[in-house]
Amino acid sequence: MKNRIFLLYGGKSAEHEVSLSTARAVTHALDFGRYDVTPVFITPEGEWRPGPLLEGPAENVTDLMIGENGTNAPARLTDGIAALAAQTPDAPPVVIPLLHGPNGEDGTVQGLLEVLDLPYVGNGVLASAAGMDKVVMKQLFAQAGLNQVPYVHFIRSEWNKNRDGILGESESRLGWPVFVKPANLGSSVGISKASDRESLIGAIEEALRYDRKVIIEQGVDAREIEMALLGNDEPKCSVVGEISSASDFYDYESKYMDGNTVLTIPADVPEKAANEMERAAKAAFKVLDCSGLVRADFFLTKEGDVLINEVNTMPGFTPTSMFPLLWQNSGMTYPELLEELIRLALERYQEKQ
Ligand code: ATP
Ligand code: MG
Ligand code: MG
Ligand code: MG
Repeated sequence: MKNRIFLLYGGKSAEHEVSLSTARAVTHALDFGRYDVTPVFITPEGEWRPGPLLEGPAENVTDLMIGENGTNAPARLTDGIAALAAQTPDAPPVVIPLLHGPNGEDGTVQGLLEVLDLPYVGNGVLASAAGMDKVVMKQLFAQAGLNQVPYVHFIRSEWNKNRDGILGESESRLGWPVFVKPANLGSSVGISKASDRESLIGAIEEALRYDRKVIIEQGVDAREIEMALLGNDEPKCSVVGEISSASDFYDYESKYMDGNTVLTIPADVPEKAANEMERAAKAAFKVLDCSGLVRADFFLTKEGDVLINEVNTMPGFTPTSMFPLLWQNSGMTYPELLEELIRLALERYQEKQ
């Protein structure tokens, strides 16, 4: 009997499109001789639909949002949940939530899958939720003694009441430039760099469009280095990779559109820094109680200091994304990586029973 896989993709998130690329690539790589794959498409509005099988290269992702086979079937969250809940407990499918950002990478879908008692790829509820909220994540990093940039954070109502206080605190504690981010998002959506008070106000208003919570970080002039982790209780670390973006910073366009971003794998970093990244990445994995996979993003300053920027609990996962490329350079192909993630999902599920 073939094993069954439920692929969840799309999602009610500003990273919807990124998930479509990931899902196409994953579907393409799955061994259909071994797996029965049920695709479930989550619309940008959060409706669940029987999705088309997304084979082929990720050239044109927008056509997936309409039409193809099955997408006119009942489009309700409850139908999707009922389909998942109807799975037999003796041979439950492995769910692969290929979702980035809120409503998918943040523990909400993971919570649903826990309640339905289904094995799923990647991080659990706690790690997903804590990893999505940059403020909570940084507070936990601080507790683990990790080096990071100073920051200021607030929620919308505080901004509305006390603009001058927040602007003054940012200016005196962080100086210029700063990076302003929605606390819960990814792919650089809603992130701006600000170099003066006026642009800071604009950046905050932009970030508040995506989230009620905002973080302002001190801007660092540093190399950007990433590391991938794979495992459950004792994760393995990949080699490190470097991002060189032609833009002012690694924004949405340079991530997915402009083609001017260079990934160097393995990155040429001093051994001391690479060791420090490995130590910090493992400590971050541990303090957030991660499982399955994580991509840890670092800054490496000119002085050689390693600062952790964040972890991503469901990193970009197309064949040209950093996470699979790091593993490829560490000796694991894309299909092997998928197999390993499915194995880790089952390992964690069985341990829980
Ligand atoms: P993703 O999840 O896709 O990695 P994200 O939306 O969570 O991205 P960050 O990784 O926090 O966002 O930031 C996006 C980019 O912005 C970084 O890769 C870097 O280029 C720049 N950046 C963010 N914070 C800082 C900072 N404090 N100093 C300098 N550059 C920064
Ligand atoms: Mg992120
Ligand atoms: Mg992300
Ligand atoms: Mg990042």
